[in-house]
Amino acid sequence: MDRRREHLGGDWSTLDRGLVPTMAAEGPDAVVARLADTARAACARWPGVTTVGIGVPGLYDPVAGTTRFLVNVPGAWAERPVAAPVSAALGLPVALINDARAFGLAELRLGAGRGASSVVGLVLGTGLGGFVAVASQLHQGHDGTAGEVGHQTIDPDGPWCGCGNRGCLEAYVRADQFAIACGAASPQAAVEAARRGDQRAVNGLTHVGRYLGIGIANLISIPRRIGW
Ligand SMILES: [Zn+2]
Repeated sequence: MDRRREHLGGDWSTLDRGLVPTMAAEGPDAVVARLADTARAACARWPGVTTVGIGVPGLYDPVAGTTRFLVNVPGAWAERPVAAPVSAALGLPVALINDARAFGLAELRLGAGRGASSVVGLVLGTGLGGFVAVASQLHQGHDGTAGEVGHQTIDPDGPWCGCGNRGCLEAYVRADQFAIACGAASPQAAVEAARRGDQRAVNGLTHVGRYLGIGIANLISIPRRIGW
């Protein structure tokens, strides 16, 4: 863990940060146990923690504290208890939030969204997550699922998406499709190839950028009136 303290103004600050591989192939029980171990280690380093939030990459039940559908994480995650076992391990209250909405909350309180009224955010990675904030408040909908901007339909006859629909924005811009479009092993390799002038990579980036632009333009029209 890279241990450092950052004062970011207001009442909020980042105490610690680190990276632990998910290792989803080991199954949900192992992943949840790793979450508990990670949280236990963090709480030991920073005494005084009173509540814990876990960002999950997909749909979840905020009341039951269970996952419902993790589109890009293999394994039996339907109705999988996550908050309760971690809470039991820590002896602290634990709540779930979608990981992209957690990012949104952080941007609103600590980052690019501070002081902004309407904010939309996208998280490009394995999939495409996002969030929508209105009146400076993260909008989660009645069950925490509002803001799944990666699953807006760009082309109803487009490629299949992991969510079961066709032509979602995510299906065009997720990391593996990004790399495939550029003829590269990874998005990083794609960008490096494009910088070297590799035409296939340049064409792939243009392709991904076009769809991403369509998706972002759609999002901009939600919190803002066009032409006013
Ligand atoms: Zn989708």
